Amino acid sequence: MQKISVVGGGVAGLAAALRLQSDGYAVTIYERRDQLGGKMSRIEKGGFTFDLGPTIVMMPHVYEELLRYTGVEPSDYINFKPLDPIYDVTFPDGEKISVNTDLADLIKDLEARGEEVAQGYLRYLDETYRKYLVAKNHFIEKSFRRPRDFYNPKTLRAGLKLKTFDSAHHAIAKFVKDEKIQKLLSFQTLYIGISPRKGPSIYTIIPMIETLYGVHYAKGGMYSYVEALQKRFEELGGTIRLGTEVEEILFGGDEAKGVKVNGTPVYSDAVVVNADFPYAMDNLIKSDRAKGKYTEKKIHAMDYSCSVMLLYIGLDKKVPNLQVHNLYFGGDFDENLREIFSGELPSDPAFYLYSPSQVDDTVAPEGKENLYVLVPVPELKTGRQTWDEATTKRYREKIFKRLRQIEGLEDIEDRIEVLETMTPNRFQDELKAMYGATFGLAPTLRQSNYWRPKNVHPYARRLYFAGSSVHPGAGVPIALTSGKLVSDELQRDL
Ligand SMILES: Cc1cc2nc3c(=O)[nH]c(=O)nc-3n(C[C@H](O)[C@H](O)[C@H](O)COP(=O)(O)OP(=O)(O)OC[C@H]3O[C@@H](n4cnc5c(N)ncnc54)[C@H](O)[C@@H]3O)c2cc1C
Repeated sequence: MQKISVVGGGVAGLAAALRLQSDGYAVTIYERRDQLGGKMSRIEKGGFTFDLGPTIVMMPHVYEELLRYTGVEPSDYINFKPLDPIYDVTFPDGEKISVNTDLADLIKDLEARGEEVAQGYLRYLDETYRKYLVAKNHFIEKSFRRPRDFYNPKTLRAGLKLKTFDSAHHAIAKFVKDEKIQKLLSFQTLYIGISPRKGPSIYTIIPMIETLYGVHYAKGGMYSYVEALQKRFEELGGTIRLGTEVEEILFGGDEAKGVKVNGTPVYSDAVVVNADFPYAMDNLIKSDRAKGKYTEKKIHAMDYSCSVMLLYIGLDKKVPNLQVHNLYFGGDFDENLREIFSGELPSDPAFYLYSPSQVDDTVAPEGKENLYVLVPVPELKTGRQTWDEATTKRYREKIFKRLRQIEGLEDIEDRIEVLETMTPNRFQDELKAMYGATFGLAPTLRQSNYWRPKNVHPYARRLYFAGSSVHPGAGVPIALTSGKLVSDELQRDL
């Protein structure tokens, strides 16, 4: 049996590992932390169970396809249920919009704002769905290993159809003049850590995917999917080494030969790196030949997505009128975006509040609430903050001040049983995310598709990369796709 080493047990590493194990390879996952999942892991404290990072399940069919590939029925391992409304969005003037996936309800809500708003929205859906199909069929599910995979008439023609040079916000403003609906359809680029004012217009597909494919919830939270993958991987005989840091990737000539753990070489027929690409280049690959163009200078000059500050709060009471997903805009969204991407801590930030205990009694003790607050902030390269204790405390207080304005949370600070804070520094130190950039390398045009670090490393044979900083990019379904591309390409090579 040919042996494969996988460096990192994040969701992309798990996807590659599970497919390869299922196809008859002997796979070992090395994970430096004491649980799998990486950014999709779990924090357990005082009877509460918090999802560390991702919370929104989009495109559940991609999650399910991975389990199905290994020959099992996904519903025996994981259960997704659709949410409707998918989220509530509250604007600074107090207006709250519930976003429905039911087209009849959605149109009623949009028509109430004006027939031209509903009409513009339908045109947006039509054009964006067309772009989505082009992106899916020509870009996302292709690994771009050789120049001709990209530079061919079919792909270039498809690229023109995407009209990527426009910004996400501008692309939406063309269809819908209502400013609140514009915001509601453009903030989602923050899910992948870029500004809607600057991010390529292709990312307007995110709210379309939410509406057309729904937003789902996995009982037990996102980590239950990691548990499902772990269970299936172990059933198939895969090996997991938790608390085991890979110190170096080993090479013989231009070929990856294995990994070094605890000072000892472990040889394998191929190496899959799931650790963040820029971190791995800087720390795990010592050979200049294998680094290729990704020198230290180049790695630090690349563009990084924004980071986030997170509060995980266990509350000793229930809160009425919350959805699972809730978004609150601050006063001036453009200023908020300018601050995040120019390195300043937002003065009046938009934030996202997740409360899985609204629909799941396994994530909080009875009669209590599980809250997760996410605030986009600068990554550590552009950011001018040190995230020391004083800064963290000050910023946390700013967030609490905003939370106190929400119905049912007026006394939040007196009702906290459990509190944990995640900062960009922790993402950098604990998850090895370069510059604490929670969504990896920014998906700017210069760092997308053919120009994003590749799944098949061009400078060494038998070395593959799966994860959010490589093609196709960030977000759980996309990271799962990168694991699939790696597994396909590796099997073709071996
Ligand atoms: C706060 C937050 C919210 C998000 N929300 C959503 C959402 O709602 N929906 C969605 O779809 N996506 C969301 N995302 C994005 C999504 O979580 C990520 O794109 C995805 O989880 C990335 O997975 P990965 O496998 O690329 O990387 P990671 O999860 O970072 O995995 C890399 C793994 O490698 C390990 N590692 C690093 N170095 C070594 C080493 N030397 N030796 C051994 N192991 C090592 C790390 O410990 C880690 O476990 C969110 C992300 C964050 C951070």
